[in-house]
Amino acid sequence: MTLNGEVLGKAKWAAGRLVEAERQVQLARADYHTLIRRLHLAGGSLREIAQALGLSHQRVQQIVNDAGGSWWQRVWRTRNRERDAVCTFCEGPPSEVSRLLAGPNVFICDACVDLAAQALSGRRGGPRPFRAAQEGSRAKCSFCAKKASSQRALVLAEAANLCADCLEVCQQILRAEEG
Ligand SMILES: [Zn+2]
Ligand SMILES: [Zn+2]
Repeated sequence: MTLNGEVLGKAKWAAGRLVEAERQVQLARADYHTLIRRLHLAGGSLREIAQALGLSHQRVQQIVNDAGGSWWQRVWRTRNRERDAVCTFCEGPPSEVSRLLAGPNVFICDACVDLAAQALSGRRGGPRPFRAAQEGSRAKCSFCAKKASSQRALVLAEAANLCADCLEVCQQILRAEEG
């Protein structure tokens, strides 16, 4: 052993500290981005948010769009307009569905958002109508049109699919509506 034991011990300790610090950075970043999206979902314009936080307009746009593309910005502006729509996933008619979110040619109700979240949390088989996509699946999210990957989990249903990012956005929209 040519390594100085004391220095090695310090190096190991420093490595542990670094891993923990990096984890904290990731958590802080995720929190920050989620809060920025919430400001936007609650009606704040990109310009307003950028000014208030000292960020560039482009940066705020990037953070907001990272949540699965921009389909939901349109949704948010046109919410409450699709009164006769039916949930694409459970086909529940408006009378049986308490809230419906519209994507591009796809609708999802709040109950299906909950079911998709359960399916994504890894239960095998998943609650109907959802099942988690297998590894290597070529299926695409019906909301943001992105493919499943190791970073992007996807739940599949007969009529449409939903990725983890878009699911999170749906949950944020529902939460923001609750106030
Ligand atoms: Zn539904
Ligand atoms: Zn998606």
